[in-house]
Amino acid sequence: MSNGGKTRAWVEVDLDALRANFEMIRERAGASVALIAMVKADGYGLGAERVVRALDPLGPWGYGVATAEEGAVLRGCGVERPVVVFSPLPPGAEEEAAGAGLTASISELAALDRWAAAAEGSLDFHVEIDTGMGRSGFDWRAVDRWAPGLEQRLSDRVRWTGVFTHFHSADDPDGGAVAEQWERFRSSLVKLPVPRSDLLVHAANSAAALRWPEYAADGVRPGIFLYGGDPAPRADGIAPRPVAAVRARVLLVRDVEPGTTAGYGASYRAAERERWATLGIGYGDGLPRALGGAGEALIRGRRAPIVGRISMDLTVVDVTGIPGVSAGDTATLIGRDGEEVITVDEVAARVGTIGYEILTGLGPRLPRLERNGRA
Ligand SMILES: *Cc1c(COP(=O)(O)O)cnc(C)c1O
Repeated sequence: MSNGGKTRAWVEVDLDALRANFEMIRERAGASVALIAMVKADGYGLGAERVVRALDPLGPWGYGVATAEEGAVLRGCGVERPVVVFSPLPPGAEEEAAGAGLTASISELAALDRWAAAAEGSLDFHVEIDTGMGRSGFDWRAVDRWAPGLEQRLSDRVRWTGVFTHFHSADDPDGGAVAEQWERFRSSLVKLPVPRSDLLVHAANSAAALRWPEYAADGVRPGIFLYGGDPAPRADGIAPRPVAAVRARVLLVRDVEPGTTAGYGASYRAAERERWATLGIGYGDGLPRALGGAGEALIRGRRAPIVGRISMDLTVVDVTGIPGVSAGDTATLIGRDGEEVITVDEVAARVGTIGYEILTGLGPRLPRLERNGRA
């Protein structure tokens, strides 16, 4: 891995950690369970193509994306396994999805009609059953109303190969909501007009796959855990290895007089003589602006608080008491430096959001550099 010493800020993607996280999920779910690696939103911001290149040799069943374009990109880099589009396709996107040989998820009969119309040869689809998520899927209470229509529409052109639901509260240690949704799902499955054995049945995201292997069914759909986010820390001590590190160079180091202010709004004022380092990263790179005055960076293995507001391109940290900091040093906003680590979940918690939003918010200005990649 090299950044040529030039880059001001970047994201490191640790592919060994990604692979280890995949294996942890597989171990938990069971070797016979299909793994659908979720690579939507460009592999949670880390690069779908490199994620797929790293995971494909491990034998996932397939991949999950959100859009036809994302699926077509995977085909463009040679992926031959099933690729399921988990969001409903907007009318008009069927042709691109069909052309790329993707598997649609179907939430209404009209969408299945459009899918059949787009088929040149034969196309696969999975049926989504809404058991409480309320954003897509056929209503679990009304199987008798939609299942006959589905059955009528089956043909050589459209093949029904899977059925799934999505848990809304798998990250809640109280499994009550998951159990209720599972029961709703199960009660719909038994009413479907095709044999259960013809369908890949799947429900669990990362949190559910880790906490409730009893709902692994035929397949699980891990996303965030692969990328080092822990949606629901558990007592069993199973935690993902960090995959993403966000680093920035120190551009300037200055000793400032008491009363010196930092950033827009001059919201921070040095109480005494302090040493500040200016980092080449800002909210224009996806570093959450709310970390201003609240977050930290690691420099020389020590924590340095972010002072004042974060600018679009620059962030100031207080390095008073960290000896030897100089221009050209590398600061870590997310990731490990020596004994210290700032996890993506720590950053998310500081700004009141979730690791998913932090990762997918990392901007295109940050080059993604691979660590431990194998050719
Ligand atoms: C994003 C997504 C997942 C993965 O969820 P994680 O919490 O990231 O593991 C699984 N299933 C569906 C339908 C999704 O949209």
